Amino acid sequence: MGKQAKLYKKYTVKDGKLIKTVVFCSRCGDGYIMAEHEDRYYCGNCHFTKFKTVEKKS
Ligand SMILES: [Zn+2]
Repeated sequence: MGKQAKLYKKYTVKDGKLIKTVVFCSRCGDGYIMAEHEDRYYCGNCHFTKFKTVEKKS
């Protein structure tokens, strides 16, 4: 695995506040951060895949 250290990078400090820039799994709940891919999010815990809703340029 060895992916845990990466999680801490997914927070941004803005105006002294910690901003969450991660997506948590809607099945597993808070604490289960979904891995971000180009077009989707993936939960390594329950293997749930959530596709990003992005507008396609035609
Ligand atoms: Zn999950």
